[in-house]
Amino acid sequence: MSLTTAPETHTIREGAFGNATHLSCRACGAQSPLGPYYACMECFGPLEVGYSYGTVTREQIEAGPKNIWRYQPLLPVPTDVESFPNTEPGYTRLVKADNLARELGLKTLWVKDDSGNPTHSFKDRVVATALSATRELGLKVFACPSTGNLANAVAAAAARAGIRSVVFIPSNLERAKIITTAVYGGTLVAVDGNYDDVNKLASEIAGEEEGWAFVNVNVRPYYSEGSKTLAFEIAEQLGWRLPQQIVVPVASGSQLTKIDKGFTELQNLGLVDTCDYKVYGAQATGCSPVAQAFRDGHDVVKPVKPDTIAKSLAIGNPADGPYVLDVTRRTGGAVEDVTDEEVVEGIQLLARTEGIFGETAGGVTVATLKKLLATGQLDPEAETVIINSGDGLKTLDAVADRVGPKVTIPATYDAFVKAGLQ
Ligand SMILES: *Cc1c(COP(=O)(O)O)cnc(C)c1O
Ligand SMILES: [Zn+2]
Repeated sequence: MSLTTAPETHTIREGAFGNATHLSCRACGAQSPLGPYYACMECFGPLEVGYSYGTVTREQIEAGPKNIWRYQPLLPVPTDVESFPNTEPGYTRLVKADNLARELGLKTLWVKDDSGNPTHSFKDRVVATALSATRELGLKVFACPSTGNLANAVAAAAARAGIRSVVFIPSNLERAKIITTAVYGGTLVAVDGNYDDVNKLASEIAGEEEGWAFVNVNVRPYYSEGSKTLAFEIAEQLGWRLPQQIVVPVASGSQLTKIDKGFTELQNLGLVDTCDYKVYGAQATGCSPVAQAFRDGHDVVKPVKPDTIAKSLAIGNPADGPYVLDVTRRTGGAVEDVTDEEVVEGIQLLARTEGIFGETAGGVTVATLKKLLATGQLDPEAETVIINSGDGLKTLDAVADRVGPKVTIPATYDAFVKAGLQ
């Protein structure tokens, strides 16, 4: 495997990555220059972006646009990032969920509703930072292996940016996620196999084809940084403070680990007071390798073959699994999993109490919150945030045979009365 797919001829411009200064290995700490690198030269460990910030103030951020680019100084993107066509994700609602809190016996609960993004999932955030890196690195094809939501986000962002996209999905994906990707044009490739098979194919292509940017493979260090904006927004929307507990869905584990990185950076920069927050991970039992490792006290995650309706979280061999274990253990949180039956109940519970229709990943998170409370792992008195990372309209099948009209009546007042609807 080659460690870069950079076209040799491209020169990276000054300021291409804002305040980012280098890449560093999460396994051994070795540093590399900013570039199209994703694996450590020394140990093949995953790379992540490092920064030198200077000062960043709340006022500076508050004066920015109402999307993720208000946090430009904290991301690996140039100061003129806004001037390039992009989907402008972020700044989604933080909903005070009093009804759900009351039902679960929690004191204070917020739902960060990321279904409000341009393609209705949190993936628009990570794709936006990956797109910026792709442009600055001179890569020409915008690509990904996807469990669905990433496919939507990559195809839409490429359409808006006017670049070629090639999206690889497992052929058994939900119909809605196929249509909502294909509609943006670009090339959609259905692969016989599960997500882990598709991901392996993508890594192979990324190693061979010069100029291809697989957002979650070879530009992954830049991609992952986009998830920090969830942490930044939650803190800003709470009035510049951190919640005491947060429950996050886990697929590859990138989102969870970067929310922790975002909270850490805000504290280091003095943008929020320090707080002993706890991070909790949520998985579906049919694909719960991280929850299993957490319970067993293991540091490594044993891959599984996914079998769950929560397809957007169905990654059997999660790249950031060990780091999820680190974060949840270090902060005093936990990783739990819930059955598909509980996932569906979770979707309905959130919809019924708060008027928010989340996708299966949202159901996983709500149901995990409930389980963590029931098992005494989560403090009902502590302020808690959960992430609804996607839109229920994309996973209608999960609830389709459980909900529907109460009755069907003729269009007469008499029938209305007879049906007892007064
Ligand atoms: C991708 C995804 C996640 C989590 O992804 P990570 O790989 O763990 O960062 C959560 N929810 C939804 C809806 C997703 O599509
Ligand atoms: Zn290393």
